[in-house]
Amino acid sequence: MLNLILFGPPGSGKGTQAAFLISQYLLKHISTGDLLREEKAKGSKLGMEAQRYMEQGLLVPDEVVIGMIDQKLDEFAGKVNGFIFDGFPRTVAQAEALDNLLAEKGTEITKVLALQVSEAELLRRILERGKTSGRADDVNEETIKRRVQEYNVKTIPVAEHYAKKGKLSNIDGEGSIDEITDLLCAEIDVLQ
Ligand code: AMP
Repeated sequence: MLNLILFGPPGSGKGTQAAFLISQYLLKHISTGDLLREEKAKGSKLGMEAQRYMEQGLLVPDEVVIGMIDQKLDEFAGKVNGFIFDGFPRTVAQAEALDNLLAEKGTEITKVLALQVSEAELLRRILERGKTSGRADDVNEETIKRRVQEYNVKTIPVAEHYAKKGKLSNIDGEGSIDEITDLLCAEIDVLQ
């Protein structure tokens, strides 16, 4: 299996790039942000609970997202070439849980592709996206800054977790969409 983590701060282009990579490599895209927004749209208890954190730009509790991932891995086990995780794992506890869930299924993370984008560029991109995304957490500058702060404090250690295993590759995320796709594909092609 080819199991990739598309890693990077909010607004670094993970969702945009994942959309291309899933068709190129026939992988299943798992975005915890998308899954949480679906739960919210359905009005489920989980969605309502998650919304309280999301609208403030805070991370949703680990057990909530780990439970969702566990279900998705079961749903697609044996049916796909692999997964692209987008927006997950966001804490070291999530990374350890993911490693264990994949090990139970006889597989593992192949590579973590980390998009590097400056904070000024992130803020610019998210405010631009907020004009059309319909996401409350994309329009308020304070909320965006809190999301970036959550990333800096809780999520950057995840890169270190995978660097120790020799699985981290840093990618310049500031070029054009096509340039970044080419850089990602060059990394993935040598894995196969
Ligand atoms: P995203 O669409 O990835 O930017 O995520 C939007 C929001 O959903 C985040 O600001 C968090 O509140 C929540 N969220 C998404 N993925 C996770 C995760 N892996 N762990 C905790 N919270 C998450």
